[in-house]
Amino acid sequence: MSAANTTGKTRSRIALVTGASSGIGAATAVRLRADGYTVHALARRVDRLDSLASATGCIPHALDVRDHDALLTLAESIGPVDVLVNNAGLARMDARLAESSIEDLVTTIDTNVTSAMVAARAVLPAMIERNQGHIVNIGSMAGLYPLPAASYGTSKGAVHLLSLNLRLELTGTGVRVTEINPGRVSTEFYDVAVTDPDRRSKFKDSGVDEVTADEVADAIMYAVDVPRHVNINRIELQPTEQTYGGSQFDRVDWND
Ligand code: NDP
Repeated sequence: MSAANTTGKTRSRIALVTGASSGIGAATAVRLRADGYTVHALARRVDRLDSLASATGCIPHALDVRDHDALLTLAESIGPVDVLVNNAGLARMDARLAESSIEDLVTTIDTNVTSAMVAARAVLPAMIERNQGHIVNIGSMAGLYPLPAASYGTSKGAVHLLSLNLRLELTGTGVRVTEINPGRVSTEFYDVAVTDPDRRSKFKDSGVDEVTADEVADAIMYAVDVPRHVNINRIELQPTEQTYGGSQFDRVDWND
């Protein structure tokens, strides 16, 4: 995959994928490499990134997305990016918001929201200058429909509005914005989200055929590969056996 630059020569298209050490990010890095992109793969786990780099030829960057200065410096060193996949994310589901540690709340917002904004901030000026580029934000069904997961839902709701507002801000620049909203995907997500092994296995065992990381990567690549005059605004995908929303009733033992 190549693009003409100002000298008329072609250069490899460049992608930056955050959270590329596992799950959806790793699968997307593989797909982008297969399409000929130069892929900058970013995450904290060096061993995972090194394995991905050996297998695919992507360029690994061991970095915590919450280190905003490091993120900005990295983006500057890479130069113009064609596709940013804002994928790094997590949930902390050891407790409801009412009992959650403040650290977990802050980590969730900083990782899922602030870092995605900083990454976009880092790559957008060059995209706007070149009248091309694509920001792909990995949201969640939890950002569109209520779940009993308030902090995670809040963070992904913010990613949803970030995507909508950014698209408006970028009107007329040629820069595309896509939001991908998966439901349950079979990844390491719940290994991070839930600490207690028994509770974790209950969360992880959905009992249904879950969407795979490769299938989410396919959706991402569809949005990336359509002609530049087409902006795929949003893709929702979830297991056929999972649905969203649903009104709940539970009797309350009133105190008065
Ligand atoms: P994984 O846990 O497999 O992947 C999460 C990735 O994010 C890892 O590569 C991890 O890398 C990276 N990451 C987390 N925190 C940081 C950080 N501070 N700095 C850098 N990288 C970080 O889960 P998924 O693949 O499922 O998650 C990918 C995205 O998909 C997330 O945004 C998640 O919210 C979203 N999603 C997942 C769903 C699911 O059911 N799995 C459903 C809907 C949305 P490392 O630990 O090496 O830093």
